[in-house]
Amino acid sequence: MAKYKGGCQCGAVVFEISGDLGKASICHCRMCQKAFGNFYAPLVSVALESLNYTKEKPKYFQSSNLVKRGFCGNCGTPLTYEAPDGIAIAIGAFDRPNEIVPTIQFGTESKIIYVDELHNLPQRDTMDDVEDAPFLNQIISYQRADGD
Ligand SMILES: [Zn+2]
Ligand SMILES: [Zn+2]
Repeated sequence: MAKYKGGCQCGAVVFEISGDLGKASICHCRMCQKAFGNFYAPLVSVALESLNYTKEKPKYFQSSNLVKRGFCGNCGTPLTYEAPDGIAIAIGAFDRPNEIVPTIQFGTESKIIYVDELHNLPQRDTMDDVEDAPFLNQIISYQRADGD
């Protein structure tokens, strides 16, 4: 019985985790920024024996001599960080990311200078912009639904 489930946006890679999760973090290091194409990488460590892929397995890019990065070979979603001391999974790929609360920041020597201020930006829901972008009313998602 899976305690946690998630996957890539196209649904080709779906993971289930049967045990407890380890430490949740965000990593600001430059390598994680590149691997995720993002300001930082949100990752939670998992025990290898509790991780199961129910469909396809990730493809990998060896990002250094010691670390490889897993991603969906079909849609490109970044999914894993795999090092000699363990594996971590992208928190945003989980079906219920609200349950996985980061408790530490790593790689802060590369923290992007405005990241700590992002929560102060003006906030708008997606549909707040429907008048400026009427196509929002017609969007049909082709992403894997949470729980599938
Ligand atoms: Zn995919
Ligand atoms: Zn990193």
